[in-house]
Amino acid sequence: MRAYYVYCREHDISLSHAFVQPHASRFDELLEDGSISSCAARIVERNQEGIVVSGAFLLATQGVTTDEILVYPPASPYMPEEDSSRTFAFAVPNNLPGMRWICRESLAQGASAYDYPLSSRFDEMDTLVLFEDVLVPWERVFMLGDERLSMRFFQESGFHVHCGHQVLCRYVAKTEFALGILFYMAETLDRASYPSTIDKITEVIASFETLKSLLVASEAGAAPDRFGSMLPDRRPIWTANVLFPKMYPRMIELIQLLGGSSVIMIPSERDFASESSEAMERYLRGAGIDACSKTALFRLAWDLSSSGFGGRQTLYERFFFGDQSVVAGRLYHAFTDKEACIGKVKAFLRSKDE
Ligand SMILES: Cc1cc2nc3c(=O)[nH]c(=O)nc-3n(C[C@H](O)[C@H](O)[C@H](O)COP(=O)(O)OP(=O)(O)OC[C@H]3O[C@@H](n4cnc5c(N)ncnc54)[C@H](O)[C@@H]3O)c2cc1C
Repeated sequence: MRAYYVYCREHDISLSHAFVQPHASRFDELLEDGSISSCAARIVERNQEGIVVSGAFLLATQGVTTDEILVYPPASPYMPEEDSSRTFAFAVPNNLPGMRWICRESLAQGASAYDYPLSSRFDEMDTLVLFEDVLVPWERVFMLGDERLSMRFFQESGFHVHCGHQVLCRYVAKTEFALGILFYMAETLDRASYPSTIDKITEVIASFETLKSLLVASEAGAAPDRFGSMLPDRRPIWTANVLFPKMYPRMIELIQLLGGSSVIMIPSERDFASESSEAMERYLRGAGIDACSKTALFRLAWDLSSSGFGGRQTLYERFFFGDQSVVAGRLYHAFTDKEACIGKVKAFLRSKDE
């Protein structure tokens, strides 16, 4: 792992990652001869050169545009085995023999940055990557067989904390951007001082301030770990991981609620160059803004909230760190003040006798 880290750093290697397997890999099929068949990813052979892997992984975002991929299916927490053919972690170049990539449809509907301000520039392709008897050389195998060790690696390396800190920076940046869109929309619609607008935007201000505070708290509580890296305080980060998958879809809903029809009545760049442009200028202008500039803003609001690209973003934020119960469990089990909280309640109940 250390050698690979240095290799990536020195050669400027970009990586996608895949932790999850397709749904079909979770079903076991009973065959006529009584045996059980499964398409779950597994090691089919170990030889002198390395391990041979078969199976499929998703959802390697940017998979086809990076140099290499890190594959690390989480081990089963139930009855961990010491030599499971389904437990491994490795990183390989994207073009090894036997690897195949299946992409979803592109969400960039066009090339114009006016018409598709986000999707034309920022669509990150999601992929399903197939391994058909792929030989992974030993120097690229980081973990093999031992499910307990595989689980410990996630915990003891501080994976979810280091990664979560970077993710929390993203939450703050995205919330600030959504807030900017909402404020600007309210101005151009001449609704900035309506109580219903203030209610909506204040919800996002509160999210923004909460996330920034959690980021500061995670840094203020940082301490060196046993490897000598500064490890941020995990509880504020995991709190943010629980909150943001609910905050983000709500921000998107608020953009739709504030904008109404303006989020969809958004002519294209070509329309503004047509014979209808004069009428559009008259009827689609906003408060203190011409129609073409106002439409640019609302095309952005649409691309973030209502286009295919926007829908994918919302799904991404809902599932980034796994499904909600997994994310909640991480914070729940890390919460060490449970006894102190219960103690306060017990002390209060006892106080009636004093
Ligand atoms: C846009 C996007 C990009 C992504 N990019 C990447 C990436 O680059 N790399 C990567 O590794 N992963 C990526 N992911 C995958 C992400 O890690 C997974 O979506 C996430 O772990 C959840 O897994 P799942 O999609 O299979 O959902 P599921 O596990 O199927 O969950 C879907 C729903 O089913 C419920 N559910 C699941 N199991 C049960 C059960 N046994 N009983 C009751 N309810 C259940 C869940 O609570 C949830 O509500 C991406 C996902 C999205 C949406």
